[in-house]
Formats: sequence, structure tokens, C-alpha cells
Amino acid sequence: MNYTTVSFLLLSFSFYLFSCSPKQQEQKPSFAIAIHGGAGHFGEEDISADMQSMYRTSLNNALTAGEDLLSQGSSAVEVVEAVIRILEDDSLFNAGRGAVFTSEAKHELDASIADGSSRNCGAVTGLNGFKHPISVARSVMDSSEHVFFSGHGAGVFAEKFSHEPADASWFHTHKAYSRYKKAAERSGDEVIPLEEKRGTVGCAVLDKHGNLAAGTSTGGMTYKKHGRIGDSPVIGAGTWADNRTCAVSATGWGEYFIRTGVTQDVHSRMLHGKESLSDACEGAIFDEMGKLGGDGGVVAVSSNGEIALVCNSNGMFRAWSNSENRGIAMFGESPDGTIESH
Ligand code: ASP
Repeated sequence: MNYTTVSFLLLSFSFYLFSCSPKQQEQKPSFAIAIHGGAGHFGEEDISADMQSMYRTSLNNALTAGEDLLSQGSSAVEVVEAVIRILEDDSLFNAGRGAVFTSEAKHELDASIADGSSRNCGAVTGLNGFKHPISVARSVMDSSEHVFFSGHGAGVFAEKFSHEPADASWFHTHKAYSRYKKAAERSGDEVIPLEEKRGTVGCAVLDKHGNLAAGTSTGGMTYKKHGRIGDSPVIGAGTWADNRTCAVSATGWGEYFIRTGVTQDVHSRMLHGKESLSDACEGAIFDEMGKLGGDGGVVAVSSNGEIALVCNSNGMFRAWSNSENRGIAMFGESPDGTIESH
């Protein structure tokens, strides 16, 4: 049985592990935010208590920053960018500072952002040498006639807009490098376990003004081949926002998310199929992407302030909040959303 078969069986088994839609409020909340820090097949036993507490602290810091900005009336786009910048600076996650290494021992960063009010978007792929790919993606959205830049051109664009540069040492973290070394030492065709590859970050927001936005940022997958592009910078696969429906950010095995256009699928199910946010996320993840053999999840918020955190693997670092409730989770715990009150 090859690895794909094994993972597909695992996925079928874990199909119902969690689809966590926090208890919804009767009244529309004044804001809503959902954050992820990557998904995969990991359980409580795979992450030490110290590491769990570090993840919890990092997610809480990012969530708190987002809540504060939203309470002050910041726009959804501003909040998505600010939250993702915090996660990009945090070496725990595979984005910005903690980005994984390619098979050529480099960093090729991907990011995208989408504004649900204008339905504008911006993305970069294969970016190297800049601290905050999400901010470069935002500049593409705000200041370019184009929506997507790659490699050298993305760098030229970032420089033109004075984005903060960073040299290779900024991105060189012990965790990412040891994953790279392990991958490089594996013989021939041996498949690298997915858990050693990932950890993307993303955020979806409804602001006080009724506008939606989403963004996603990643180093991609450990040991990815030169020039490989995953779903994270691809609008419609990794990121989507439209004020009529939802804002969505994805994480998981990017090739499958591209093949099934996951985040756009969530939107279309809501717009054309009149599905609820959580039904739409479950359909896109379980019935489409998961059925092809992929794994991962989405965090999403709707124009009504509903929040959905849906994943067909058994772990996803995630945090969510609206004006009344908030929660942080990593594993399949609390499928109805353990929402801690402020
Ligand atoms: N989706 C990302 C990629 O395929 C990886 C991840 O989400 O962890 O590049």
C-alpha cells in the first residue's frame, strides 16, 4: 500500500474528526475573525506540553491583536494584514520567519490577500528576501494593475514599494532547517511525511463596517521543487473574499486545494447553492478536496458573522473570535467550539 493510499484511508477514517463551527449567536456579531496556523495529522501526543503552550500563546497574541484592531474600527483588510504579519514574524509557523526550505535549501514565499468589498486581490509567489510577503501581496492589490507577481518580478515590485528586506539568516530557523536536512537525507522516492512539510498561516475577517477580507501566507511545503506553487497564493484555492458570501483562508496539501478550487467552491456553494457557511466549508473540504485524497482545512467567516473551522485532518492550529466569544484549539477537541468568554 503506498503512502497516498494510507493517507486516503486515514482521511476517510478521520472524516468526522472535526468540523468545528463555534456556537453561532442569534444576533449578528459586530465583528468576526478566524485564524489558522496550519493543519495536519497530529494529535495531542505528538506535541509536547511546552510546545502546545507556545502555540496557544502565539495564536492568542495574534487573535488579541486582531480583536483590538476590530474593536477600534479597523478595516478587514488592515486586520488580515496585521494578524498575518504577526504570524510571519513568529518562527513557530511556516510563513515569513519560520518558512520551510525548498529542495535547493532556499526560501520561496507565497502570500495572497483578498478584499470582499471591492473583490480586488493581490498575490505573490516565489518571493525571496522580504520579511512580510502578506504586505507585498497587499501592495499588489492596492497599487498594481495586476494581481499576481512571481519570483524575480515579485522582488522587484516589493523593492519598489519599499518593503522591509531580510537576509537568509532571518529565515534560517532550526526547526525548518532540520526538516530540510531530514528530507534531503531520505533515500530516493521515500515520501516525506506531510507533518514535516507544513504550517501555513491565514486569517478571515468580518469588520464592523460589514466588510470581509482574507489572507494566507506560507513557505509552502518542505523540500518543494524549484518553482513549485501551492494553493496559498492562488486566489480561489487558498484565499477568497466576497462581501456577498464569505472570507476564507485554506491550509493543507496545496495541490489538492488547487485541483478543487476550495475557497472559491465555498463561496459558490453559498452564492449559487444557498448553503450555509459551515455546509459550504464541509462540502468543499469533505466532498470535493478530501475525496480526491487531499487533506487540510479552512477557516472562514460569513457576511453574517458566522465562523467555520473545518478540517479533514485531525489537527489544525486555529483561533476564532467575535464580539462575544473566543476560542483557541489545535486538535479535534471541542467540535462544537469551546468558546471561552472574554
Ligand atoms: N497549502 C500549503 C502549500 O501547499 C501548505 C500548508 O498549508 O501547510 O503550499
